[in-house]
Amino acid sequence: MKAGRITLEQPPTARIDQLQRQLQRERKARQAAEAIAESGLRALYESKRFLALLQRITERANKADTLTEALSYALGEICAEMGWDFGNAYLVNARQEAVSCNCWHVANPDHLMPFVQASRDITFARGQGLPGRVLAESRAHWINDVRTDENFVRRDTAIACRVVAGCAFPVMAGNDVVAVYEFFSRKAIESSELVVETIAQIGVQLGRVAEREQSREALLRDALHDPLTTLPNRVLLRERATSAFARLSPRRRGLAVMVIDLDGFKAVNDKLGHHAGDCLLVATAARLRDAVDETVGGESVWRSTVMLGDGGRTRATLARTGGDEFVVLIENISHPRLPQRVADAIQAELALPFSVGRDEVAIGASIGIARSHARYADYDQIQRDADLAMYEAKAAGRGKTVTFTNSLGTVVRDRMALERDLRDAIREDQFILHYQAILDLDAGTIEGYEALVRWNHPTRGLIPPGDFIPTAEATGLIVFIGDWVLREACRAISRLHEQLARQPLQSAGLPWVAVNIAPQQFLQPDFVPYLRAVIMETGVPSHCLKLEVTEGVAILDAERTRRVLEQCREIGIRVGLDDFGTGYSSLSYLHSLPFDTIKIDRAFVAALDQPKSRKIVRTILELAGNLDLSVVAEGIETADQQAALTAMGCGMGQGFLLSLPLGEIAAFDLLADQSTYANAGRRKLAESPKAPLRALPARAFMR
Ligand code: C2E
Ligand code: MG
Ligand code: MG
Repeated sequence: MKAGRITLEQPPTARIDQLQRQLQRERKARQAAEAIAESGLRALYESKRFLALLQRITERANKADTLTEALSYALGEICAEMGWDFGNAYLVNARQEAVSCNCWHVANPDHLMPFVQASRDITFARGQGLPGRVLAESRAHWINDVRTDENFVRRDTAIACRVVAGCAFPVMAGNDVVAVYEFFSRKAIESSELVVETIAQIGVQLGRVAEREQSREALLRDALHDPLTTLPNRVLLRERATSAFARLSPRRRGLAVMVIDLDGFKAVNDKLGHHAGDCLLVATAARLRDAVDETVGGESVWRSTVMLGDGGRTRATLARTGGDEFVVLIENISHPRLPQRVADAIQAELALPFSVGRDEVAIGASIGIARSHARYADYDQIQRDADLAMYEAKAAGRGKTVTFTNSLGTVVRDRMALERDLRDAIREDQFILHYQAILDLDAGTIEGYEALVRWNHPTRGLIPPGDFIPTAEATGLIVFIGDWVLREACRAISRLHEQLARQPLQSAGLPWVAVNIAPQQFLQPDFVPYLRAVIMETGVPSHCLKLEVTEGVAILDAERTRRVLEQCREIGIRVGLDDFGTGYSSLSYLHSLPFDTIKIDRAFVAALDQPKSRKIVRTILELAGNLDLSVVAEGIETADQQAALTAMGCGMGQGFLLSLPLGEIAAFDLLADQSTYANAGRRKLAESPKAPLRALPARAFMR
């Protein structure tokens, strides 16, 4: 060491000075060395403490179910370890705000409580205050002196509580800040590297808890929500509904279930494709949500000022429970008309058309409502009745709402049972046809037959069409039944033709068969090609097939009916208007639609003894003559009626007097009887000694 070298030439005082300076330097060096050694030791000690802190928090975080549970523990441990007075946490919500989450720790409450209070129930936007800055920049922030920090919302309270400094840190899940935690102290806060590093590590551990919680929530959300509309699914609905039911008072009032089935959705899906269908469902869900929010939301505000005994607020769950089916569960209903109001709001929302791509589509909803009452034993029963009411609404046409009542329940359940049975009947071929002869009234000869369907029920015996055709029509099953009837009638008449061909003496024209066609069948898009196919398949000459339709077909779509009638004519099939005179505007149809035959309804025939009815029948006959239509009088039951009709010039007739509807063999045998008697002076079939006997079994079907 050059400065410390002692030379003999120096005087003693100078040497003393020199020695003292040397001593001084050595002391300083020693002190510096000691300080270095001590701070190393302290750093070592601190790093051990912080490591232990990190370990404790990590262990706890690994066991924690929720982020707030882990945060709570971390706040306490950090405050204790760092000597800070107050720690507090915020969760970040969907709007990217930091919301205090009632998760805080006060190590030293002296004078501090006003500041603690000011830190609870508080929300910070991004960038606002200390938590807002951490949220916006995803990094730690320090306030070394609260008095000088301009962006510190709680500054005045902090100063009053003698808070000096603070710091806040983010909890990250991936790249997102999911929580912020902050600390305050009444002493300066030392931001050593070790502290920063330790708390950053703690943040990582807490972030893992948040990620775990997020993936658990996502799994739960997926399991309980419909992925397309994000609405609650059937499982969540059931869960909420069963617990809502369990909370009901013994009178079980205050809960309603609304089943919503979209009208016309399937058509859009079929026409525009599944993607368009999905878009429509999402848009529908949004409108339903608006309608429910507006009505129930408004109600719950009103309700909260008039809290009743149970203290519950009206609330609703809107769920998607099937393809185009939604359910609204309303709890704590305060006003009896609320469910109807929700339904009205939904109907109003859906009345406006939807834009799907470049198309505008209109759909509607059939809504069934059921309200809880004392007789319900569980939620499922209410839901089932809401389903029944919806079913009834659907049957009443588009856009209807029906509220369940007990009498409705009986009617609908019977009809549903009938529908179920009808489906079985179609599958198991339980239908048979009877044939009723239609005669030339003047000649007394059989011109053709009307095929009339009966249901040969395995336990109830033969069921007449009046008891099941309306349900078959309401459910669309008539299309399947009608298809069977048409094919079977054509096959039967072909069989008859073959049989007649083997009889050499036959001279009359071939008998035809008339088949009743329901409006749904007639309006099928491929009805005429279908008729052609049936004719080809069964070998019946087209002029031997007649169709009977009621004016229902004209009411549904007159223009289409006209086109189909013309096409039928082109291929030689004749079409008659059944039950003429019963519809209120039959005459106008006659004028515009090219029918071949009209069948005068049996109500007029039954009343032929009254002058008014006679007049009507005469007018109909005159009109038919002018329009070149053939006429069949239905329901001839007496010789007087027959005589009157013949006298008025009615060409053909049908009725129990002439022949009952009979099974195929008996009905077609009448032709043989006819040819036997024909040579004996054109005797009427009704006068035949055989016909009434054979007619007996069918009397069960007289109206
Ligand atoms: P409809 O087409 O007017 O058939 C005539 C109905 O009058 C038949 O009743 C027949 O038994 C009955 N009838 C015939 N003569 C007399 C009579 O002198 N007096 C009385 N009181 N009734 C007579 P049914 O067989 O019960 O059929 C009732 C209705 O069911 C039919 O009326 C028709 O609208 C419908 N129907 C029958 N079969 C079918 C079918 O295969 N398809 C469709 N869509 N409807 C059918
Ligand atoms: Mg008919
Ligand atoms: Mg009729």
